[in-house]
Amino acid sequence: MNLVERIDAVKKQGIEPHLAVIIVGDDPASHVYVNSKIKTCERLGIRSTHIALAADVTEAVLREHIHTLNERTDVHGILVQSPLPDHMDETALTDLIHPNKDVDGFHPENLGRLVQGRTNGMLPCTPSGIMRMLRWAGIELEGMKAAVLGRSRIVGMPAALLLAAKGADATVTVVHSRTENAAEVCREADIVVAAVGRPEMVKATWVKPGAVVVDVGINRVQDGTTERGWRLAGDVDPKVAEVASWLSPVPGGVGPMTIAMLMENTVKAAESVLDR
Ligand code: NAP
Repeated sequence: MNLVERIDAVKKQGIEPHLAVIIVGDDPASHVYVNSKIKTCERLGIRSTHIALAADVTEAVLREHIHTLNERTDVHGILVQSPLPDHMDETALTDLIHPNKDVDGFHPENLGRLVQGRTNGMLPCTPSGIMRMLRWAGIELEGMKAAVLGRSRIVGMPAALLLAAKGADATVTVVHSRTENAAEVCREADIVVAAVGRPEMVKATWVKPGAVVVDVGINRVQDGTTERGWRLAGDVDPKVAEVASWLSPVPGGVGPMTIAMLMENTVKAAESVLDR
């Protein structure tokens, strides 16, 4: 069943999938992300609740919102938009979200399941979006050498785990800021996943001819030639397209896939109510 059919099916059983999104502060990019999540919910027939809090709100207030949403039986997914203001402990706060409602897949219980190789739970949306995109493109991962650039808990590490998981079966190297020969490691890879937050860091000379390159980066870079004075750049130099067999676009590509996986996790959370 596709997602729309699954949404219809749970609705017929009296459950309306419902995602609650909390955003703190007025970071413009975060508001754009939240709005597109809410719009996608509307388009699919998923109910959404948008909670916008001021940048100077206390952690206690945010904790209270999370506790209330955890208790509400009509809410299936809770997402706290990253980044939170500096005075807040983002990891500790997202840990408060009930694992069954953790549609971002960042709760230690859900990440722990992934480490155990149990890939049927709430998976982090960007890494699972990458995997879905590779599968959609018909890219066979078994036996491939993959280089994952970045080791964040949100993207790099879970992406590396999913690529190495049974069934995907790639052989993975993780590159981070202390890696001495990042370009060399990349050049040996059949698949490169770039998630470093460094605009256009991966150059054409880093990429083996014919390799598959997934660009996760979303960076605002100054650009006087555009009306708004900036443009979006990935972590991969667009010239890589001349060397790679396949390069995911920015914007587009991993961004929309991430939202799609968030919707799927929300529906999965709603469906799981029927199993309990
Ligand atoms: P992050 O938490 O800042 O992590 C960046 C990672 O890159 C870190 O592990 C860091 O290494 C590594 N790194 C930084 N500079 C490096 C260098 N010069 N060489 C090698 N490794 C380097 O970022 P993130 O949250 O994972 O996000 C990464 C990018 O993906 C950002 O552009 C972000 O906007 C984008 N993103 C996109 C989506 C989407 O939906 N498309 C979702 C999430 C994130 P250390 O660990 O050693 O510091």
